[in-house]
Amino acid sequence: MIPYKHEPFTDFTNKENAAAIQAAIEKVNGELGKDYPLVIGGEKVTTEGKITSYNPANKEEVIGHVSKANQELAERAMQEALTAFDSWRHVDPAVRADVLFKAANIVRKRKHEFSAYLVKEAGKPWNEADADTAEAIDFMEYYARQMLELKPGKKVESRPGEYNRYDYIPLGVGIVISPWNFPFAIMAGTAVAAIVAGNTILLKPASTTPIVAAKFVEVMEEAGLPKGVLNFIPGPGAEVGDYLVDHPKTRFISFTGSRDVGLRINERASKLNDGQIWLKRVIAEMGGKDTIVVDESADLELAAQSIVKSAFGFSGQKCSACSRAVIVDSVYDTVLDRVVELTNELSVGNTEQNEHFMGPVIDAAAFKKITSYFDVAKEEGKIVAGGKADDSTGYFIEPTVVADVAPKARLMQEEIFGPIVAFTKAKDFKEAIDIANNTEYGLTGAVLTRDRSNQEYARQNFHVGNLYFNRGCTGAIVGYQPFGGFNMSGTDSKAGGPDYIQLHMQAKTTSETF
Ligand code: GLU
Repeated sequence: MIPYKHEPFTDFTNKENAAAIQAAIEKVNGELGKDYPLVIGGEKVTTEGKITSYNPANKEEVIGHVSKANQELAERAMQEALTAFDSWRHVDPAVRADVLFKAANIVRKRKHEFSAYLVKEAGKPWNEADADTAEAIDFMEYYARQMLELKPGKKVESRPGEYNRYDYIPLGVGIVISPWNFPFAIMAGTAVAAIVAGNTILLKPASTTPIVAAKFVEVMEEAGLPKGVLNFIPGPGAEVGDYLVDHPKTRFISFTGSRDVGLRINERASKLNDGQIWLKRVIAEMGGKDTIVVDESADLELAAQSIVKSAFGFSGQKCSACSRAVIVDSVYDTVLDRVVELTNELSVGNTEQNEHFMGPVIDAAAFKKITSYFDVAKEEGKIVAGGKADDSTGYFIEPTVVADVAPKARLMQEEIFGPIVAFTKAKDFKEAIDIANNTEYGLTGAVLTRDRSNQEYARQNFHVGNLYFNRGCTGAIVGYQPFGGFNMSGTDSKAGGPDYIQLHMQAKTTSETF
């Protein structure tokens, strides 16, 4: 077995690579507007009602139409998943892992095609799309290996005349509800983790990005996944999502998305329904309000670069995005001025041709919500870069920097999920960490410092699931920086980490005497 190593990112300054993704975008442009079915028990089901996926950079352009599940179809999918579970759970974990290895290879060969779909459907710049595809491959490669490691079970003691074992067995049918911001990586990662562990799933991708999910479902079929293990049922959250979360046969829910939806799922999942004989397990990755802290000893150029990249990469639409910069007093102006300069150099527009650092935000609702914070920004601070938006062709918002915001202001507390970063001054490092900790979230954070004692202070006191030193706070790599947060950021499930697969399993002790 080749040891796990993360998928390298593509260098698009290389002409051949640029030509390759351009060709893939052309191919995808030739496939726009196609219909994609639901997949229930291996059967392709086409419905009259559709979810239409649009290009957020070009509102008129339809990426494709996906059939839309309702409660009846969701019930059918549940029954298929229950039937498939009876056999899939007994399939050798090594065989289950092989399906993931094969799928990873299929995607690797069609890498730029998947990235092209991410450019078109999610408005990602090439490098962000490429990272999303690479992460999807990583999840498959990593979780497959994790399953092989778990296969023999964990060591427990046995006394003479006794044989004890401790094995992980799957849970049952899981509902996987995935987000639009990593429409390939997180969708595929949460799906394959559940599957390789021996569960069967109902996959409900975000309604804004269902096409890339449909393509992934095709790959899993090609890789040899048996019918009924992965059921594809895009549909409205209020109808299909709630129905399945409430379903007595649902064993677990793996959700990535907003805080409010996560709380709703958690609450509904806690209710006992007729015919239900277990406590449902909820794995939830929710929001973030992530801070970069800079002290007076830091490399200030690196600090400014890290803030800009973390705040505006993929238009700030990552739960790991830097939306707060807390800078100690003596270097506040220097860092802020440099961030403003760098921000003013960034361009925003359609990323199909790799001409812009930033593409659009995902849809009209996001555009409305994010731009509503411009008024808040004017009240709570001073807009020193950006502050304009244009939705005439696509949902474009300028990268925006807001200076002199108070630590408890709305801009410093509420998740905006867009390209807006607020700056706050701290009198010293300790106060900076206190400010960093003063939200209800706890996902990522970064500290720029050359002071070892400050670094150690942050290691102990900066309460986030992913803490980075002397770099930005986005871009966790599967298997290297397991990802997940504290408090309202979710259940700290640590995607891409050594404990992740077990969340989809239960341990069984067997003890034999002879
Ligand atoms: N794992 C991603 C990162 O480290 C963020 C995932 C998310 O936004 O949900 O940047």
